[in-house]
Amino acid sequence: MTLHDRSNASSALSVSRRSFLKGATVATALSALPWSIRKGFAQQASALVVVGGGTAGMIAAIFAAYRGANVSVIEKGPGVGGSLVITGGNLGAAGTVFQKARGIQDTPQQHYDDIMRISRGTAVPQMARLWADHAAGMVDWLAEKGLVIPDDRLSVGIYDHYSVPRYHAAVQNGRSILAVMKPEFDRLVRQGRIRLMTDAGAIELIQDKKGAIHGVVVEDGRGIRSDIRGRNTILATGGCAGNPRMFEQLHGVPLYRRVALPSSQGAGLMLGLSAGGYLRCAENYIGYYGSIPESDQWPSPAAANMDIDPRARPPWEIFVNAQGERFVREDHPSMSERDALMDQQAGHSFWAIFDHGVLEQAPPLIGSWSRERFLEAFNRHPMFHRGVTLGELGARAGIDPAALQRTVATYNTSIEQRKPDPFDREHRPALLTRGPFYAIRSQTWTLKSYAGLGVNKDLQVTHEDGRGIAGLYAAGEVLGAATGGKAHTNGASLTPALTFGKLLGERIIKI
Ligand SMILES: Cc1cc2nc3c(=O)[nH]c(=O)nc-3n(C[C@H](O)[C@H](O)[C@H](O)COP(=O)(O)OP(=O)(O)OC[C@H]3O[C@@H](n4cnc5c(N)ncnc54)[C@H](O)[C@@H]3O)c2cc1C
Repeated sequence: MTLHDRSNASSALSVSRRSFLKGATVATALSALPWSIRKGFAQQASALVVVGGGTAGMIAAIFAAYRGANVSVIEKGPGVGGSLVITGGNLGAAGTVFQKARGIQDTPQQHYDDIMRISRGTAVPQMARLWADHAAGMVDWLAEKGLVIPDDRLSVGIYDHYSVPRYHAAVQNGRSILAVMKPEFDRLVRQGRIRLMTDAGAIELIQDKKGAIHGVVVEDGRGIRSDIRGRNTILATGGCAGNPRMFEQLHGVPLYRRVALPSSQGAGLMLGLSAGGYLRCAENYIGYYGSIPESDQWPSPAAANMDIDPRARPPWEIFVNAQGERFVREDHPSMSERDALMDQQAGHSFWAIFDHGVLEQAPPLIGSWSRERFLEAFNRHPMFHRGVTLGELGARAGIDPAALQRTVATYNTSIEQRKPDPFDREHRPALLTRGPFYAIRSQTWTLKSYAGLGVNKDLQVTHEDGRGIAGLYAAGEVLGAATGGKAHTNGASLTPALTFGKLLGERIIKI
């Protein structure tokens, strides 16, 4: 598929999703919110209204306030910070002070090329370029405010590697970033340069007859509604990975595990759609694998994670789908390549299959568990299965028994006959011949949502035909996976959230 074909395909997808949302979810979800009597109704005006006091929203407000703007921040929760309190805090940026201090040569062009290589061209080029070109300015500002990245936390990344060490891992994850941002935000609030409203959720955009946005209607914890008017509005409410229903509607994949904040309800997506915006990048969904769910009740907490990164633990097991077939080179060096294939399997799951010999010889498959706990799981856990024969194992685990026997036989034969593996796997340390046999099921999961509002190069929310919606901008996860594409691109959410928030506050928004 060429880039042109791909963009046509994605636009067709976004049309249908948009029509669906416009017809159903937006209307019902917004109107279903309780409408209390409008006592305390207020008319207030700002140069800028920032909806969401999290990662992108805080930084947008800080930089707009530096320019002397009168800024209002509307935050649904009791305080600011958003996902910074749980995020991994890993930033991808080229040409930072941290890299320079270690003599690492890097450029935004190299970063951009890496993003497009790792995402196999699925990142939106304009968004990837904006991230690559401006991320260093963001990270350098954090450094100026006190962020420290020790030498051993600057690397080529934990997913598919960058070409140079560019992945900045904050010591205490997102909390280290919040620790340097929040004092600055609080100072500006104390000085009256940022007006913060907490426990106030935006429920509607104020739109004139020509379609321009003039602020938001907010509802406080007591159900009292107010108009917060502004010449410009930034949607920075995060994604929808805390909302199982919306997540599945948009991505066509259940939210198997809920890791995102409960506040990630997709409010900004609905608000943007209600103003005439459109969604894109849902097709960039890519799950993480290796997680073992507690149960089949989605979203389910994880019981444990299997160590399936071949760079850390080359595989001794084979991975099969419900049809009992292998589908992936288990030791493929690219996590994105492996996970994209796993996403295509029925039920978004696979089983790690091994025999008693592997159980005795291989390094632990779940490194965080003791051997006793691991063995005990086969007696009681619904995702762990044991069978005297492969046929019995298949029947117990819900894998086609006959196909499983054939698959294991083919794997063993290729090793015995010293033939190449059918999937080009290189690490084949042992035959799988000695019963009992074992199966552990893994289920996809995600940290974030992938569908996001379409914006132009100025981060202005647009109609599908590219026309900007006057006064409406967006930053953060509400933009979906435009920056990282259909891949695990290191730092592709947090860094653009901060960088785009800064860009909006610092130069894009007209004060
Ligand atoms: C566990 C975890 C680890 C991660 N690790 C990484 C990583 O290492 N690197 C990376 O690149 N990405 C990572 N991510 C993703 C990244 O952290 C997020 O995408 C990013 O922080 C989101 O920023 P945001 O500003 O869009 O949303 P948030 O920071 O979540 O802020 C949104 C704010 O909007 C508020 N809000 C919501 N609805 C409303 C409303 N109606 N009205 C008013 N306010 C509202 C919320 O309360 C919240 O405060 C991780 C995510 C998770 C969950």
